[in-house]
Amino acid sequence: MSKLYIFLGPPGAGKGTQASQIAKSFNLEHISTGEMLREHVNNKTELGNKAKNLLDEGLLVPDELVISMLIERLSNNDSKKGAILDGFPRTMGQAKSLEEISDQYPIVKVFVFEADTEELVKRILLRGEASGRSDDTEDSIKVRLEVYNSDTAPLVKYYQDKKIVSTVNAIGEIQDIYSSIAMHFKN
Ligand code: ADP
Repeated sequence: MSKLYIFLGPPGAGKGTQASQIAKSFNLEHISTGEMLREHVNNKTELGNKAKNLLDEGLLVPDELVISMLIERLSNNDSKKGAILDGFPRTMGQAKSLEEISDQYPIVKVFVFEADTEELVKRILLRGEASGRSDDTEDSIKVRLEVYNSDTAPLVKYYQDKKIVSTVNAIGEIQDIYSSIAMHFKN
């Protein structure tokens, strides 16, 4: 059995930054489906070739592809360490797929990152300049925010009903946001 922690929130909210620091501090796997997909694109795998244009346009990769990628990744994690899921689930279908494996992979907590749109757009554009990520363009950001609101935001209520949500104010110093998340973990 390995415990799952979900980092949920709009693009640019800083999930990846926080997930990597929390994972290091509390000896958890950091699983970012966005990173995994970008690796597939770089390596020109079959999945990468299917995903490339969707990523660049800011659209979601179809559930069946992402779900099988994620489940394979979880089953390769035989160390039984817990894991932080950064960017998964992003649709109700993906959330239901986690529900199906919850005996083996129980979700302990869902951290919902909150930030206003203006700040998100500013951050993503800055990140794009620094990293050269091909999906950090104005057109793609607009689509990703729309997709977040339509497909992913409903998951907040879904997990609130299960009483496992903690809200994270994603505006402020990285270190302060880190502390507000870290207090939910034990060493
Ligand atoms: P961001 O949170 O800034 O959008 P990510 O690295 O989490 O960055 O995701 C980048 C892109 O990867 C998404 O816009 C989407 O195309 C794809 N992606 C990542 N995770 C998923 C997922 N769970 N389901 C479908 N597509 C995904």
